[in-house]
Amino acid sequence: MNYSDEEICMGSLPGEGNTYGEVAPPIYQSTIFTKSSFESFTKEQSEEDQYFVYSRGTNPTVQIVEKKLAMLERAEACKCFGSGMGAISAVWMTLLQAGDHILFMNNIYGPTLQLAAHMERFGIEYTVFDHEQWRAVEEGIQENTKLIYIESPGTMKMKIVDVRSITESAKEHGILTMMDNTWATPLFQKPVTLGVDIVVHSLTKYIGGHSDVVGGAVISSHAFIKQLFFSGYQLFGSVLQADSAAMVMRGLRTLPLRMKQHQANALQIISYLENHPEVKAVHHPAADKSNLPLIEQQLLGYSGLLSFELKEAGFEKVAAFMNHLSLFRIGTSWGGYESLVNSPLKRNNQEQLKAQGFDLGMIRLSVGLEDADMQIKDLEKGFQAITAY
Ligand code: PLP
Repeated sequence: MNYSDEEICMGSLPGEGNTYGEVAPPIYQSTIFTKSSFESFTKEQSEEDQYFVYSRGTNPTVQIVEKKLAMLERAEACKCFGSGMGAISAVWMTLLQAGDHILFMNNIYGPTLQLAAHMERFGIEYTVFDHEQWRAVEEGIQENTKLIYIESPGTMKMKIVDVRSITESAKEHGILTMMDNTWATPLFQKPVTLGVDIVVHSLTKYIGGHSDVVGGAVISSHAFIKQLFFSGYQLFGSVLQADSAAMVMRGLRTLPLRMKQHQANALQIISYLENHPEVKAVHHPAADKSNLPLIEQQLLGYSGLLSFELKEAGFEKVAAFMNHLSLFRIGTSWGGYESLVNSPLKRNNQEQLKAQGFDLGMIRLSVGLEDADMQIKDLEKGFQAITAY
């Protein structure tokens, strides 16, 4: 049976638990699931990905979320994790061995690259092709390339790469592809339909949506999720707890509505920023006019994470802007109901940022669900502060 994304997010699918007519499935807060005989215990324990035995394996509440995420991504299976980083590291621990090489496509979330640097001590190599270099994918592929890792839109500049052309190249060389789809959510981008083998999410962002739960997910084929289950998942132990899964499920219920609002607010704020005399550039797929045909082909909508560059760069200006905001709170992460502001700039990392191609006046906004006019009024206070500075 085919379900729409809204039905998957909001409805109760068969098997979601409806013993008393409840609309919220019970939270199975149990570490173990006992069996009526030792025979059934031994059978189920040897196929722990299929049965409820121990919650570092499977759990009924977590499984509901896994089914929904797999369906939303148009994939066969999903495994949830204790965080987005837990999900990414579990995939690499499952797939890679000494001598392998990862090719990164686009600007990648910092800790993902830090993890790759950490893996060098185990003999795993990597190369990064950023938003200006990704077209040269064929040049980046080495004899030992095991995985092409994509983020699109990418971190900080939210640039798009052509996912289908990358996955086609990868397939010609027999290389697996993995993509971080956190920015778009499964509602606004479906990487599996573009040929991606493994999709990862930080559930901590839009899917959780309320800045009160940390989680991650890997979505792929039955065969890969089975391999992942017995290796990078179970042995490394990054588990999503049942109560956290219930909060992720609550996030999913309103995801379609929230994403519509994040999109509408972001579009209004982008047009305000594009016309502001203090702004040099706005980074968001909706502001990337040169890439529109590809963007429209890949994205089904726009989320609310964007960045922009102040005309006058530098730590003091960026700090003055941010310190004068009140609705936009200063903090890390993104994708919650609340508006947040951040910058990659620190007092001592200017050379590093320039080398990465990031402007020294760069500010990132996670556009929240508050009324867009209220958000713009708040941003205006920041701009007034820097003109008076
Ligand atoms: N991927 C992206 C694009 C992110 O921005 C983040 C977190 O900010 C992660 C992955 C990691 O997710 P988590 O913080 O849930 O480990």
